[in-house]
Amino acid sequence: MTLKRYYESAYLREWTASIADLEEREDGLYVRLDETAFYPEGGGQPGDTGRIGEALVLDTVMEKGDVLQKIDTRPGNVGDSVLCTLDWERRFDHMQQHSGQHLLSATCLDLLDAPTLSFHLGEDYCTIDVDRAAWTADELEAVEQEVNRRIVRNLPITSYTVSPQEAAALPLVKAPSVEGDVRIVEIKGIEYNACGGTHVASTAELGMLKLLRAEKQKGHLRLVFKTGFRALNEFVVQTRILADLSSRLSTPKEELVERVDKWLEDDRRKQSERQALQQQLDKYVAHELLEEAVHRGGAVARLFEQRAFKELQSLAAVLTAQTTLPVLLGSLTESKLLLAHGGQADLSCGAKLREVLPEYGGRGGGNERLAQASFGSEAELRACYERLLSDFQ
Ligand SMILES: [Zn+2]
Repeated sequence: MTLKRYYESAYLREWTASIADLEEREDGLYVRLDETAFYPEGGGQPGDTGRIGEALVLDTVMEKGDVLQKIDTRPGNVGDSVLCTLDWERRFDHMQQHSGQHLLSATCLDLLDAPTLSFHLGEDYCTIDVDRAAWTADELEAVEQEVNRRIVRNLPITSYTVSPQEAAALPLVKAPSVEGDVRIVEIKGIEYNACGGTHVASTAELGMLKLLRAEKQKGHLRLVFKTGFRALNEFVVQTRILADLSSRLSTPKEELVERVDKWLEDDRRKQSERQALQQQLDKYVAHELLEEAVHRGGAVARLFEQRAFKELQSLAAVLTAQTTLPVLLGSLTESKLLLAHGGQADLSCGAKLREVLPEYGGRGGGNERLAQASFGSEAELRACYERLLSDFQ
C-alpha cells in the first residue's frame, strides 16, 4: 500500500519515489508510487497535480486504500526511481481554503449554533451549507469578524491519529465516518475535527477569510467565501472594477450607488418622455399614411429606413383603429414586415403571409388580425412588400 507522506507533513512538496505499478485504463494512464505526497480527492478537497519525472500529474484519486496518480505520459518503468514535485501554489491554496472552512464552520457553530452540513471547494470559490433557515446580515458580519480575529490570534493547527477509543473521548464536531484509527485536525482552543485533508500549520497562514454572499439553499444557509490569496485576489479584482467605474462616471466610489440610482431614475423619466413623443409622432405619421392610402387605394403601407420593429407595432395599432384597410409596415433596419387589420377587412393576415413568404425566403406567421415576417436580405423584404401591395390593389 502507498505510504501517504502528505500525512507526515502537508508542506512536503518534492520527494523521490519508485514506480510500483503502471496501468493503462479507458480514461487514461495511472501510476502507483511506493510513497506519495500527492493528496487524493476526498473530504471536499480536490486531488493534487504536479509532475512525476517528465510526466504531468492531471489528478490524484484514492482507490482501495491506495493512491493513484493520473498522468499524461509514462514517467519510466516499474521499479524506476522518479523525482516527484507538487503543484505547490495550487495545493497551498487548497490548504488555505480547507483550513478556512474548518474555522468558518467552527465559528458558525459557536456564534449561530448552526452545524455545517456540507463543504465544496471549487476552482473559483468555496461554499458551506449550514443548518440555518433564516439569518440576518448582522449575524453574518459577526461570524466574519470573529473568523478573522481567530486568524490573527495565530492559533496552531495540528493533525494526528488517535484510536477509536481516544476519538470517542474527544469533543468531535461530527462522528468519524471511518472505522479504526481516526485522523484528527485540531485548531487549538477552537475545535477537534475528524478530517483526512491537508491543512496549514496555523490560522495566521490563512491571512483573511471573506464572506462573499449568503444564499438560501434547500432551506439551509449557503455561505460563499474565499480564504487567503483567493480573498486578496477578489479584493484586487473588485478594487479594479470600482476604480474603473469611478473613473468612467467621474464619481468617488463612496458616491457610486447614489450616482447610479440617479442615473436609473433619469433613464426611466427619459423613457416615458420618449414614449409620449413617440405616441404623438405616431398620430402624425398615421394621418399621413391614411391620406396616401386614400389616394392610392389598396393598403395603408410604408417601408421605414430607421424605425425599430417594436415602434411599427404601436404605429400599426394606431392605424388599425382608424381604417378598415389592411396595414402593411416594414422595418429595413430589422428586415421585418408586419401585416395587420382592425377586424373589418376580409383577410387573414397569418394565412396571407404564409402563402407568399416561401417565394421570398421569409419566415413568420400570425393570426387573423396580426402577422409578422422576417427576411434574410433587404431585397427579399422589398420584393415581398411590393408583391403584397399589388395583391391588395
Ligand atoms: Zn476537513
